[in-house]
Amino acid sequence: MQVLRTVSELRLWSRDLRAAGGNIIGLVPTMGALHAGHASLIRAARAQCTHVAVSLFVNPTQFGPNEDFTRYPRAFEADCALAEAEGAGVLFAPAVEELYPNGADSTFVEVPVLSERLDGASRPGHFRGVATVVSKLFIAAEPDRAYFGQKDAAQVAVLRRMTADLRLATEIVACPIVRDADGLALSSRNAYLAPAERAQALVLSRAVRRVESLVAEGERCASTLLAAAREVFAAEPVVRIDYAALVDWATLEPIVTAAPGTLFAVAAWVGSTRLIDNAILS
Ligand code: AMP
Repeated sequence: MQVLRTVSELRLWSRDLRAAGGNIIGLVPTMGALHAGHASLIRAARAQCTHVAVSLFVNPTQFGPNEDFTRYPRAFEADCALAEAEGAGVLFAPAVEELYPNGADSTFVEVPVLSERLDGASRPGHFRGVATVVSKLFIAAEPDRAYFGQKDAAQVAVLRRMTADLRLATEIVACPIVRDADGLALSSRNAYLAPAERAQALVLSRAVRRVESLVAEGERCASTLLAAAREVFAAEPVVRIDYAALVDWATLEPIVTAAPGTLFAVAAWVGSTRLIDNAILS
């Protein structure tokens, strides 16, 4: 596995593969501190592409001023080992100045409306940072396919809209949520949780399962489903709900009646850690 640090190296890697003909380039964007969720994206990319690049970049522009940018977990050596073991051909790990050569006076990519919904409502500017850095990665690597986790379902919606609006050639592939055995969705931020908080955090996946099982029993009314989710949270009062919503996955607009493909998404604070979880209802 090659470790590349500059946009021009990544571009050259991609262009050489394309010039050779017959190659399919996959990109897996991450912020590092890789876990089995990231590994599943790399595996999916390996299954569908001839060559896979994993990017590892803690993107400052997607963090708010009081968020965890400086203390976000960083584990470069372990990340290299995991990416290589999963079969990535390239690990792209640029410095901040490489992707933001003009610092804060940068050109940004804005996806209107969707960027203000769900996580965008509680994290102003977050999706502007995500759309900008993913655009930079797409422009550099020119991937045929890029792999993202359904875990960040609103992010997938924003990026699908962005690629449609910009008429980009990259297909956004969403991969299922990988969970611990007890149901907790894997997240680099789970490392922040004290043991008691980790147990409390299970309320998110419990709420997701409750909504899924009510839908399986035939319930379709959004307000009934959301009330049931809130009831699950009420049993764990130290966990503070940020949002619990039933929305159309493409537009992130709230829906009144659940239908196949409806997104149930939840975000909550466990101590000082904000966690998210969701399900696409069948
Ligand atoms: P991050 O490093 O947290 O920015 O995540 C990089 C990518 O991995 C994103 O597309 C996430 O949605 C995805 N991801 C994170 N956690 C999981 C998980 N538990 N299962 C599947 N994908 C995940």
